[in-house]
Amino acid sequence: MPVGGAEGERSSVGDRIDELVADQVVLVVGSITDPAGVTRGKYVPVRRLRDFQRSGMGVSPSWSVFCVDTGIAFTPAIGVAGDLRIRIDPAEARLIGDGIAWAPGSLGDQQGAPAALCTRSLLARAEAAAAERGLTVRVGGELECTMLAADGSPASTEPWSPYGIRTSLDRSAFLVDLATTAERAGLAVEQIHTEYGHDQLEVSLAPDTPVATADAVILARIVLGRAAARHGLRISFSPVPFEGAAGNGAHLHLSLADAEGPLFSGGRGPHGIRPDGGSAIAGVIDTLPDLIGVYAGSAVSPLRLKPGNWAGASACWGLENREAAVRFIAATPGSPHGANAELKLVDPSANPYLATAAFLSSALRGIDRELDLPDEIPVDPSTVAATPPPLPTAQVEAVDALENSAVAADLLGPEMVEALVAVRRHEIRTFGDLSPAEITQALRLAWSC
Ligand code: GLU
Ligand code: MG
Repeated sequence: MPVGGAEGERSSVGDRIDELVADQVVLVVGSITDPAGVTRGKYVPVRRLRDFQRSGMGVSPSWSVFCVDTGIAFTPAIGVAGDLRIRIDPAEARLIGDGIAWAPGSLGDQQGAPAALCTRSLLARAEAAAAERGLTVRVGGELECTMLAADGSPASTEPWSPYGIRTSLDRSAFLVDLATTAERAGLAVEQIHTEYGHDQLEVSLAPDTPVATADAVILARIVLGRAAARHGLRISFSPVPFEGAAGNGAHLHLSLADAEGPLFSGGRGPHGIRPDGGSAIAGVIDTLPDLIGVYAGSAVSPLRLKPGNWAGASACWGLENREAAVRFIAATPGSPHGANAELKLVDPSANPYLATAAFLSSALRGIDRELDLPDEIPVDPSTVAATPPPLPTAQVEAVDALENSAVAADLLGPEMVEALVAVRRHEIRTFGDLSPAEITQALRLAWSC
């Protein structure tokens, strides 16, 4: 007979604890990812799982303005007083090995209300805003990263061959461990390959709802880091881990559907794009100058955002155009998840919850305003006469644009923008005068899990 209410909740958490114990779990960690893009967490012995759900684990409000180093970028609103809670849902606990289970945390106040600076709650609100408009949203995440030796130096010194069978099979034990751990963690890995850059690796995840995908990105970072460590490696999620090296992107794929079907296919626009789909893409491109500080706003990000890097540094869109900020992927038999818009500009220094919220909310804003789809740029944007206007890629420009943007405040909330600006300004003060070699070294492990 089903048991309801508090008693039912007690027994289901008790069952979950028993399952985790049977899976050799000793500790449960709940993490949040802060505006600087760093993931931080607290652990409890597995038997305290219920407390992690109900009362949550205490953290100071400064967790939202911790920086990529040990700095704290206090703001007028965030000082030393106050307390918040990380709460997790026991049902979302995933096995990450070594006797530990991980769950995505949400940041709330002591009463249980979401904190203004909870990036996961912000994304959940963007997801709800899409649902209110009758839209179904799917987001797919890609993780590019760089394998390092245990001391943080390059993992290999032999010549690299992009996508090479040698370069991947050289790491076969790690890759098999990675795939095994990912499966055990319930992570829907779609593809793994060695990438263009030296020692670079990519893992792509199956599309899911926005919050589930941002959670999966964090879980994938953790699983990558743990599997790598077992093979004497470390993983860098820096946008550029070494001066002059290929960049690491954190591309996001977005698809939207209403009651009539997908917005990016089946219509009479270019490549089958329906009017609302065109407005969604227009909304994303329209807000790029304001939101580049969200998508790629760290001290290292400008080193990647250059023409020729396939990093989407150009404010335009085009079918399968890897130099466009928005690469459009049409519905073909070769696209198992259907048509989607890939935001290439995003890098792994961005908080994936915030980046996904900005991407989705700017698409919804475009739909609400019925923005017109700009002309497609079907070739390398640097080769066309009417090049799209340059984006403010320098960190100072990107942070200024974010701080002064009414759109960013509207889409993300003024508190979130203030915290993000504060942590990025700390980076400008701390790393702004360093050479690319010094910045890439200083931040090589900043976003690793
Ligand atoms: N590594 C490139 C970037 O920084 C992307 C390469 C690709 O198209 O997969 O975004
Ligand atoms: Mg790639």
